[in-house]
Amino acid sequence: MLATHRLGRQRLMDIWQVGEVKITRVVEQVEITDGRFVIQQAAPENVKPHTWLQPHYADDQGRLVFSIHAFVVESEDCLIVVDTCVGNFKNRDIPNWHQLQTTFMEDFIAAGFDPLAVDKVLCTHLHDDHVGWNTQLVDGRWVPTFANAKYLLAQQEWQAWHRRDGFEEILSDSVRPIIDAGLMEFIEPPHAVTGEVKLVPTPGHTPGHVSVEIASGNARAVITGDIMHNPVQCAEPDWQGSADRDPDRARSTRHQLLEQWCNAGVLVLGTHFPTPTGGRVIRAAEHWRFDPANPDRP
Ligand SMILES: [Zn+2]
Repeated sequence: MLATHRLGRQRLMDIWQVGEVKITRVVEQVEITDGRFVIQQAAPENVKPHTWLQPHYADDQGRLVFSIHAFVVESEDCLIVVDTCVGNFKNRDIPNWHQLQTTFMEDFIAAGFDPLAVDKVLCTHLHDDHVGWNTQLVDGRWVPTFANAKYLLAQQEWQAWHRRDGFEEILSDSVRPIIDAGLMEFIEPPHAVTGEVKLVPTPGHTPGHVSVEIASGNARAVITGDIMHNPVQCAEPDWQGSADRDPDRARSTRHQLLEQWCNAGVLVLGTHFPTPTGGRVIRAAEHWRFDPANPDRP
């Protein structure tokens, strides 16, 4: 059994300005764990030699640090939430995610956002830690948290999961209530959300997995989704996500993206990278390394 410990709360909010687009991170939880829980080859003895990961992304024992957070993207007149974390009161197999009672929504509101003003919710894929706050429990029923939003999901992702065994709980508490409320929009990536924000296919972790590309003026950023889980995968792109459905596809997608992000100097915002969550991919040794960038503080 791999031990996972919840870390004391890191700073909850960070802000990045990408051209005209403002991106705010709202954290649900941060965990430190034997990395094999998430990345198969990330045993502490394999992580430890990557000393550049310390202290932010790994500790001196070689355990990896992961964050679960949402990004709020303000583009043109559109308020967008990217990935909705684990959520409260959900029955989940992973003990740290089971029946959570976090202050995520209070923190979201304290960051200056009104859930009812959200226009779009983007789910990069259909895993527990990306769809949780799609809904909240009100009077014993799961209802959309962002009641005036359209929720965007790749059609292929829906096709891959909706008849899969063992998945009914997530669908019934976090996906079907959105469909029943008429708020779900199945899309075919690449899909333009605004003139500055685009969903692009980055398959491998799941069949219909997407990342979020942001381009405004000369500035470029990307929200990774789970094609990478920790910056160690910049140096070790062949290490396999434990939940990758098609590991070979995920590897080749990762290589392709890292090369592309490195060449274009893209600000990379990692969906599970703890603080500092944003940075640039630079060439190092045989592969790459992650060079953290300071956010624009609120
Ligand atoms: Zn995830």
